[in-house]
Amino acid sequence: MILIVDDAPENIISLKKVLEKNGFEVDTASSGDEALKKILKKSYVLIILDVQMPGMDGFEVAEAISGYSKAKETAIIFLSAASANVNLITRGYSSGGLDYISKPVDMNVLLLKVKTFYRIYEQSRALNEMQTKLLEEIEFRKEAERKKDEFISIASHELKTPMTSIKGYIQLLERSIDKNDVETVKIRLHKVQNQIEKLNLLVADLLDISKIESGKLKFNKKYFSFDKILDHIVEIMEQANPQVKFIKKGQINTEIFGDEMRIEQVIINFITNAIKYAPDSDEVHITSELRGSEIYFSVRDFGIGMAKEHQLQIFDKFYRVEETSERFQGLGIGLYICQEIIERHQGTIGVNSEPGEGSEFYFIIPVHPEKDINNN
Ligand code: ADP
Repeated sequence: MILIVDDAPENIISLKKVLEKNGFEVDTASSGDEALKKILKKSYVLIILDVQMPGMDGFEVAEAISGYSKAKETAIIFLSAASANVNLITRGYSSGGLDYISKPVDMNVLLLKVKTFYRIYEQSRALNEMQTKLLEEIEFRKEAERKKDEFISIASHELKTPMTSIKGYIQLLERSIDKNDVETVKIRLHKVQNQIEKLNLLVADLLDISKIESGKLKFNKKYFSFDKILDHIVEIMEQANPQVKFIKKGQINTEIFGDEMRIEQVIINFITNAIKYAPDSDEVHITSELRGSEIYFSVRDFGIGMAKEHQLQIFDKFYRVEETSERFQGLGIGLYICQEIIERHQGTIGVNSEPGEGSEFYFIIPVHPEKDINNN
């Protein structure tokens, strides 16, 4: 917007008319004081300033404006005969630009100057925007790099822990074999097997992450019984966690279309998290419901829960709730993979949680997803 400052109303009217005719938005002020008040409230691209005004003259107004942060980018065109004075004040004025036009005003020259200032203003605005975007991009990349480094260090640690256990158990196994103690050999072999299974899961998660990144996570979708895989998972979970009571509610009672193994992976992730993040509770509630043409599935625990600000971020890659990350082992990638799987089933994933009260993780997926011709 342009501000015209002139004490002669006839000058204002004629300038305003020409500028508006050429598509510019115009505001007016009939004194230096009024102009300063307006400039404090609004941002102008350009001020056309009459030099000779009673009270505060145009140069005084310009000097005052030079101190306003709001008018830093604003250019000024003086309407004056005295070009020398313009040069004088230019020195102290570090803003958008200064120019002058001799009176009587040649409208063509004025329009040319106005257009030039507008072009410069647009260009510098575009440059500023680009600079802001670039700075944001640099910050984003730095943060991603930091997260990646942190992830590599956690991942190596997570992989090393089962490796060290396996090494230890194998040494013990050798001793038991020497002693011909078959029972202890069996127990230790079982422990080695558990640690290998842990390693297997970790490596599978790491592979999934890299497949998601490169767009190569493939799905093998067909009709399967949701109730059956859930029963199977709960049975295994009950065996592995005899201290936990799994309370199952609801049934789907129909076959659904999807990747059985991947849906199983999400359910297992929800349940293992529910056990891991609720060390002082011994109950996990599992609900599955058919709601119209969709499945609603949830796992509720009575564990540590989490504050609102974490609830959206826990589905981000590598995100772990910092306050509790020391207490619980993990890589912060399980839920990220779950989200990808559910979204690729045209579903939604989410959490309801209260700190100290527990969490409920859920997903909703369609029973017969439409437009799923590519099977992925
Ligand atoms: P991991 O458990 O390996 O860190 P996840 O991606 O499965 O990775 O979970 C991301 C984060 O979400 C966890 O680090 C934890 O802070 C939080 N979280 C996940 N499940 C629960 C839960 N049931 N209760 C409380 N916090 C949870």
